[in-house]
Amino acid sequence: MSGTYETALRARLQDPSLLETRACLAGDWHQTTRRIEVRNPASGDLLAEVADCDRADAAQAIEAARVAQAEWAARSAKERAVLMRGWHDLILSNADDLAVILTAEMGKPLAEARGEILYGASYVEWFAEEAKRVYGDTIPGHQRDKRILVLRQPVGVVAAITPWNFPNAMLARKLAPALAAGCAIVAKPAIETPLSALALVVLAERAGIPHGLVSVLPSSDARAMGQEFCENPTVRKISFTGSTEVGRILMRQGADQIKKLSLELGGNAPFIVFDDADLDAAVEGAIQSKFRNAGQTCVCTNRIYVQSGLHDAFAERLARRVAEMRCGDGMEEGTEIGPLISEAALAKVEAHVEDAQQRGAQLLAGGGRREGWLYAPTVLSEVTSEMRIAREETFGPVAAIFRFVTEKDVVEAANAVEYGLASYVFTRDFARSWRMMEALDYGMVGINTGQISTEVAPFGGIKQSGQGREGSRYGLDDYLEMKYACLSIAPSA
Ligand code: ADP
Repeated sequence: MSGTYETALRARLQDPSLLETRACLAGDWHQTTRRIEVRNPASGDLLAEVADCDRADAAQAIEAARVAQAEWAARSAKERAVLMRGWHDLILSNADDLAVILTAEMGKPLAEARGEILYGASYVEWFAEEAKRVYGDTIPGHQRDKRILVLRQPVGVVAAITPWNFPNAMLARKLAPALAAGCAIVAKPAIETPLSALALVVLAERAGIPHGLVSVLPSSDARAMGQEFCENPTVRKISFTGSTEVGRILMRQGADQIKKLSLELGGNAPFIVFDDADLDAAVEGAIQSKFRNAGQTCVCTNRIYVQSGLHDAFAERLARRVAEMRCGDGMEEGTEIGPLISEAALAKVEAHVEDAQQRGAQLLAGGGRREGWLYAPTVLSEVTSEMRIAREETFGPVAAIFRFVTEKDVVEAANAVEYGLASYVFTRDFARSWRMMEALDYGMVGINTGQISTEVAPFGGIKQSGQGREGSRYGLDDYLEMKYACLSIAPSA
């Protein structure tokens, strides 16, 4: 039973009512007989048993969303913005509790969890502001009596599917632009981390976001939920963050109804350090971009390419830093690396490291599992392109260092994957920065920084990393339809 641990978690919260285990379905809090078990990845303890929704629940939520959306879209942008702003303020004032819930179910260190809550809230704030700037256009008519207007209108009912690695922010990044644009949204969070999603909508309800406009439906049957989202004609758009594999499934399933799709999929980020780079900054950048969330983000560095002149110094310095990192339970003060999300995630990381070592990689730091689902932060050098770690997303705390000689070679190697999400370059040469920015086939390029995520910039990938953008003024486009009206103006008599 979840009783003991659930009680302990509630006791840690200033506002225990944020720990909601019912689904938010069509304006009501809904409990089911079958439940989803939510476990703490640091201990394996059963934290809570959450409502387990099915396809019929999704259909009901979509219908309620259709009704609520019409009224929501009819409100002025300012009215919508005021409610969203209130929701943002509630997220901030409850950030500590939201962070505790997040760490409990997902495992990341508490400080990172708090950072994620603020990051998620920043999208709510940003899109509350942008709601008022959905401008249309006028175009000079093509004939004397013609006038052309361009309107931007909400797409309607949106379905969202989110992953476990940022259980708050990935949902906030979809809810916020959808609501700002005048859409309604039905979301299915990841089965591992439904509590953060539900807590977010508890606060949305308190802020006065209308009933039925947002539903959050945890479900153990992701396939059936995805099918309902793709096959229900009321759903006009699907926004998905997760694996490229599931992105493909949704694209295929959505084809019949030509569903609009925003897809934030996998990555395999290169991190390129030239001989002329600032070594300290490059090592810090690698730590930030590789080890955040124990390496479990889609923008995490997966391949570190270091030019031969700086290679040994960089590898040695990085290994020293990584060996000092503290791993453990995310709830404990000072923890930098929390547990991985599951046994399967741990097994993948182990397999990648083993494969690399068998093919000649050198272990410079870490290696091996610790208690529970912890994997020690690890550095490997002499990694080469035929190793699994070079081709697949590792999604764990393993820094894999490759050696390179020329700029041309490294660009070729960096681009030789099917993904195109984030990339990073460290160099002090201005012209090279510019060349790299243009040459890398990635949706995002960090130059001399390992941290690129912000609500003011368009986050998203190219190639098999997806389509659509989240954040920035471009982020609203994904939730708007463009329509033009051609007016014939009779000349005055
Ligand atoms: P990850 O490897 O990060 O778990 P997934 O793509 O498997 O990535 O999961 C991301 C989200 O997609 C989760 O909410 C999961 O439940 C959901 N999901 C998994 N399979 C499907 C599917 N066939 N249809 C719709 N959603 C799915």
